[in-house]
Amino acid sequence: MNLKESIRVIEGFPKEGISFKDITTLIGDGETFKQSVDAFVEYLKDKKIDVIVGPEARGFIFGVPVAYAMGLGFVPVRKPGKLPAETIRMNYALEYGTDSLEIHKDAIKKGQRVAIIDDLLATGGTIEAVAKLVEEAGGEVVTLGFTIELTELNGRDKLKKYDVMSLVEYD
Ligand code: IMP
Repeated sequence: MNLKESIRVIEGFPKEGISFKDITTLIGDGETFKQSVDAFVEYLKDKKIDVIVGPEARGFIFGVPVAYAMGLGFVPVRKPGKLPAETIRMNYALEYGTDSLEIHKDAIKKGQRVAIIDDLLATGGTIEAVAKLVEEAGGEVVTLGFTIELTELNGRDKLKKYDVMSLVEYD
């Protein structure tokens, strides 16, 4: 099956007007799950990546197997209050209000080359916050990788200074 066909689209979730891209059908199928992880690994393999970073929760789903396949460590970015050691926090804007994410202060060594992986690029607000956390922690953001990109929302514009790649696009 092709990757795009394996993604289930649910209209009106979580609220009216939203066309939700559901990756549970993609990861529920061994072939398409492997295909997506392999595609990230293939893209990243010559980029001298030292560590993979992913935000909870769906960034873990793709980021962890990519890290494992490449023999690299994985650093989680989490909602406030979940990480036990000293953290750095970043606030970012949502459509309504703000949210925050945290990373362990000592999770990345100075100068390490980082690939950040998440399930979906919409406006780019979430991943921009993750990239800033990585930079504040001392890392160099090499690539932002997404399973899905909603191109109409122009997330790439916000992320111009980074290398952005995605496996499946919707407009
Ligand atoms: P952004 O910050 O606007 O780029 O939104 C990206 C975040 O919203 C990702 O971490 C996704 O998990 C979530 N998200 C937004 N739209 C969808 C969707 O259609 N399906 C799954 N997740 C979504």
